[in-house]
Amino acid sequence: MHFSSGINRPPYEAADGFLQITSGCSHASCEFCTFYKDSPFILSPMEEIEEDVKELAQSGWNFDRIYLQGADPFIRKTEDLLQIADMIYRYLPQVKSIGGYARVDNLKIRRYSR
Ligand code: SF4
Repeated sequence: MHFSSGINRPPYEAADGFLQITSGCSHASCEFCTFYKDSPFILSPMEEIEEDVKELAQSGWNFDRIYLQGADPFIRKTEDLLQIADMIYRYLPQVKSIGGYARVDNLKIRRYSR
């Protein structure tokens, strides 16, 4: 699994499968936050994401939710997110929902693609 900026998630998401699709934070300017200070913002390549989804499928771990990793995974373009959701559906059919952190403007802007 690739976790270049660690795993950050709310306590109630502890039982999820974790999948990095971005690392770092595209904003990285909040004075109070030290989470991603040392991690540059990067979009994970699709090949790497697919590798990790396959690894999760082979893990034998019982989860029905994926919590996307990176401070703002929803900054990726809709086409990317749909491709990732398709991958999850193909390899992890038990997954019922997908979540992750997001800034409100991520959902509006969504300009990054790979
Ligand atoms: S947007 Fe979130 S992760 Fe990014 S610097 Fe601000 S609080 Fe930290």
